[in-house]
Amino acid sequence: MEYFIEVLLPIPLERNFTYSVTPGQFGILQPGMRVAIPFGKAKLYTGLVVSLHHSPPVAYEAREVYQVLDETPLVGELQLRLWKWIASYYMCTLGEVFRTAVPGAFLLESETRVVRNPDVAEDGDSLTEEEALVMEALEHQGVLKVSQISELTDRKNVLPLLHRLLRKGAIDLQEALREDYQPKKARFVRLHPTYESDPALERLLESLTRAPKQTQVILQLFQLQQGRDKPVRSREMEDRAGTSRSVIRAMIDKGILQEYELQQDRISYGGPAETGEPAALNEEQEEALASVRQAFGQGKPVLLHGVTSSGKTEVYHHLIRECLDRGKQVLYLVPEIALTAQLTHRLQALFGARVAVFHSRQSQQERAELWQHVQRGGEKAAVILGARSALFLPFARLGLVIVDEEHENSYKQFDPAPRYHARDAAIMLASMAGAPVVLGSATPSVETYYNAQKGKFGYARMQRRFGGVLLPEIELVDLSQAYRKKQMKGHFSQRLREGISLALQEGRQVILFQNRRGYAPVVECLSCGHSPGCPHCDVTLTFHQGLQQLRCHYCGYHRALEARCQACGNATLDTKGFGTEQVEEELKELFPGATSARMDLDTTRGKYAFERIIEQFEAREVDILVGTQMVTKGLDFGNVGLVGIMNADSLLNFPHFRAHERCFQLLTQVAGRAGRTAPRGKVLIQTYNPHHQILKQVSTGDYQGMFGEQLYEREQFRYPPVVRLIKITLRHREWGRVEEGASWFAKSLRMLFDREVLGPEFPPVARIRNQYHKQILLKIPPGQSLPKTKNSIKRIEQSFDAISRFRSIRVIYNVDYI
Ligand code: ADP
Ligand code: ZN
Repeated sequence: MEYFIEVLLPIPLERNFTYSVTPGQFGILQPGMRVAIPFGKAKLYTGLVVSLHHSPPVAYEAREVYQVLDETPLVGELQLRLWKWIASYYMCTLGEVFRTAVPGAFLLESETRVVRNPDVAEDGDSLTEEEALVMEALEHQGVLKVSQISELTDRKNVLPLLHRLLRKGAIDLQEALREDYQPKKARFVRLHPTYESDPALERLLESLTRAPKQTQVILQLFQLQQGRDKPVRSREMEDRAGTSRSVIRAMIDKGILQEYELQQDRISYGGPAETGEPAALNEEQEEALASVRQAFGQGKPVLLHGVTSSGKTEVYHHLIRECLDRGKQVLYLVPEIALTAQLTHRLQALFGARVAVFHSRQSQQERAELWQHVQRGGEKAAVILGARSALFLPFARLGLVIVDEEHENSYKQFDPAPRYHARDAAIMLASMAGAPVVLGSATPSVETYYNAQKGKFGYARMQRRFGGVLLPEIELVDLSQAYRKKQMKGHFSQRLREGISLALQEGRQVILFQNRRGYAPVVECLSCGHSPGCPHCDVTLTFHQGLQQLRCHYCGYHRALEARCQACGNATLDTKGFGTEQVEEELKELFPGATSARMDLDTTRGKYAFERIIEQFEAREVDILVGTQMVTKGLDFGNVGLVGIMNADSLLNFPHFRAHERCFQLLTQVAGRAGRTAPRGKVLIQTYNPHHQILKQVSTGDYQGMFGEQLYEREQFRYPPVVRLIKITLRHREWGRVEEGASWFAKSLRMLFDREVLGPEFPPVARIRNQYHKQILLKIPPGQSLPKTKNSIKRIEQSFDAISRFRSIRVIYNVDYI
């Protein structure tokens, strides 16, 4: 008898490949285990066994596997089922899901690039001779491909050797992001050690009876220290004590207090010990929790619709506690890595070392370790907090799924395939695992609210902020009037400048939101009107002042800013529009006494960059935080008195059926960062359209109004949630080819789906990285079978591919395009 296995490769192939194995291997192999296999001429891949059988392949001679890599399956049955659902629902191959789902450290292949791990000190003794040889080669060469290491060691089976080195932490994969910032020192304050004993302290307090300010400072210090094992920053102390810096300085000079420095990122938070119980809920929160439980009982996903700062996170804490008590695991999804920093601290304070974070900025090895913890289902990773890819972890006993900020677009992966929606995939995962799901938001997506209205989802509502704190007061500032009356300084209206001054005077912080990064999105010649564009994409280049560069935000192309216009040669280049960098620059001029920080893609590339900015802001070392959308998403700062939106118009005028929904969500969310705990916060929105309906709805917090209007429009113009959408994009280097191919494709679709086909159309940016794009939108009305529709599309694609001049055109599907 012959022995074969079906192997899934982590590449976009329509089919699995059959390999032959020895009877011995056949005896130990199970689906979900990895094997090292040859592929093509000289390639080495890590593949996944999907089944075992005895029938040789018909079209080709089965090759032998090099090696079995696992003793137990790496991927369980539940994961495979989820992968299959994702591949079929989102119209991609299983191999693409495999590649996305599994950490790179598990998928070594001939092209993988390996480097020495710079964080680990050399410990040559623990290495075998062969391992040491690889390390030495890496030292000389810097980077080596797996195929090169294979030659070097003269071994086909180099993967186990590399896995050992990965486990020992000696090597890493090159794509892993490096920690690229210099640790910053921060100042902290504590009572001088001589007063640590109770009698000494008593004597000190007695001696200070006639110095009430100093006594006050000591009491404040104790208060700050209470219930946390985090050191107290000097800055925090100055703010809270309500006393001037000079009093604290004097006490330091007298030796009562001591100031010291710590490296900021080395501060430890909440020890590994389990420390607390979730906070007692108020009445509204209790009611919401009861509704959530009720929906769980009915087996429905439930929408927790609570205004910003109503305590959704506190409600989750109770659900998590119950789930852990049942010995099960929690998946807690957030849309943005930035959010994990704050939430980790909150969760660790309650659940200690059971909390683990998973996201794409971790090294491949860290991710691989977490994978194994989750699979074992032990204590260590019982609560997984992560961005969208965390849903691929091999949960041993999933008991609860939380999707926080469920309305966020970043839950949908755009590129590459699988173009999945993490919220929807998480709902599917939960239903496969028999676990309940809660979706949380202050501004639910129209489709989720629609599902709740139709009774498909459960619904729980919280209308009030915790602790009787009022929602911020929102004021619209008319920019055209401000310009007419000459009240602008840079991009700041007088109203906004006053607002900032007032907040700063009151010792409160400010967040400013601008939807673009860089200094200015357009550079234009005043003489001839020429604007430098990207040579590879159809966009203008953004000016970055700090770098003195023009950069393309689509492909990364950049060059130094030229002194003269490249078209007419005059030195008359000027900028148009503005980004976060310019806002920060103007701030420095307008408020020289205030410290500011910027949070956008440019300032958050390093591994701990988010954490650093958030910590500085929390510790009030920064007065004003300027940022892009990153500042809108669920951050919880206690001391923000004012949120300013520099310009709301680009959000309003965005050409997309969701533009108004998104504008409402974004502005409501960023507004929600104001006055979360302290006195009522204030929001100023600068706009040329102060009478726009959406802005009114934002300023009155009228979610229902927004929903009703949007739903009406979606019904009129037939967009989700009334129909489903599949976006089909065709891509090729030649404009004419895309043009012709797209017309052909659209015509074929129309023969079947008639009026439900929109386009083809060039998107606003039609060329990216020298590839032209053209899009077709297909609407799928309720009642029309989704699987059948997809099959028809696939058949059209087959005929398309049969036409030789179309064969090189890439066809990309985006199911549930958002
Ligand atoms: P949301 O997630 O809805 O934005 P949070 O859960 O972050 O709201 O709550 C806002 C603030 O109020 C947080 O600082 C939180 O600790 C506090 N808070 C909310 N509910 C309670 C409660 N029941 N007991 C104590 N503090 C609470
Ligand atoms: Zn470009």
